[in-house]
Amino acid sequence: MTEAPFHHVAIIGLGLLGGSVGLALAEYLPGVRTTGYDRAPATRARAAERALVGTVCATAAEAVAGADLVIFCVPPLAMDDAARDCSGALRPDAIVSDVGSSKVAVARALADALPEATIIPAHPVAGTENSGPDAGFAHLFKGRWCIITPADGEDPAKVERLAALWQALGARVEVMDAAHHDRVLAVTSHLPHLIAYTIVGTASDLEEVTQSEVIKYSAGGFRDFTRIAASDPTMWRDVFLSNKDAVLEMLQTFSEDLSELQKAIRKGDGDTLFEHFARTRAIRRSIIEQGQDDARPNFGRTE
Ligand code: NAP
Repeated sequence: MTEAPFHHVAIIGLGLLGGSVGLALAEYLPGVRTTGYDRAPATRARAAERALVGTVCATAAEAVAGADLVIFCVPPLAMDDAARDCSGALRPDAIVSDVGSSKVAVARALADALPEATIIPAHPVAGTENSGPDAGFAHLFKGRWCIITPADGEDPAKVERLAALWQALGARVEVMDAAHHDRVLAVTSHLPHLIAYTIVGTASDLEEVTQSEVIKYSAGGFRDFTRIAASDPTMWRDVFLSNKDAVLEMLQTFSEDLSELQKAIRKGDGDTLFEHFARTRAIRRSIIEQGQDDARPNFGRTE
């Protein structure tokens, strides 16, 4: 076995992402020491029961002491506070990273809180609609992409060490400019969540459709939106506020495209609708071909 890229990884925030990183390290790089901290005492207790990390610490400073990699796994707008709690406790040569879903704002928050540290942000594009210390699992990153967004001029050897860690956890790694990441994720992740939150809210507010009908006929498409719309409210509030510009830009484009389809329906323009749907069906096929989803009917659901 080749040598692990880090000896001691500290994880701050022991929810879905933090717990999954800890469990994945235990499974794929068992020689790496792991310590962790979460601000909620109940989460720390549950993390210890589930052995999400080797040692659950009572403070963030204790968790990061001696670590050569610190990964912040807290919601985007909590990065600042979480990082300040570690100020003065980091090893001078430690690499500081994170898993935040938006990158420009999170990188700025970490740099402001830890001005002396080497910060190499990252975003594993892997998750579920669940959160908290019971949600994590070791295989979350298998076959998924992890996007690393180093600042201009960052030491390539350090970026490579972080990439090696994510690869060891099963991820595929891409290095990208942070602003580009935020625009790409605005359209592939943030906008779809906003649409799901909207449509589920709209359906439940409709007076002529009862709640029981919404649930009864949900297999018509609605239930796939409800899975996304069940995602953690704190995290998603933070994602929209921390990636505001890119989301608003993509939302504008989306609104224009929606208006085009609305116009086609109003005019009875079947060709426009058919061409559009044929194009989107081909995109779905590419996602399956590239192993990013399950091709079985109903996404492999058995019920
Ligand atoms: P989560 O399950 O809610 O876990 C976050 C944990 O961080 C919670 O236990 C929270 O405690 C704790 N926390 C908040 N502020 C803290 C602080 N200042 N110090 C220490 N701990 C603190 O959320 P998650 O889904 O793992 O998301 C974590 C990060 O991963 C976010 O930045 C998100 O953008 C990113 N991400 C999420 C997904 C996804 O699908 N969920 C995918 C990729 C990346 P409280 O409960 O007390 O607030």
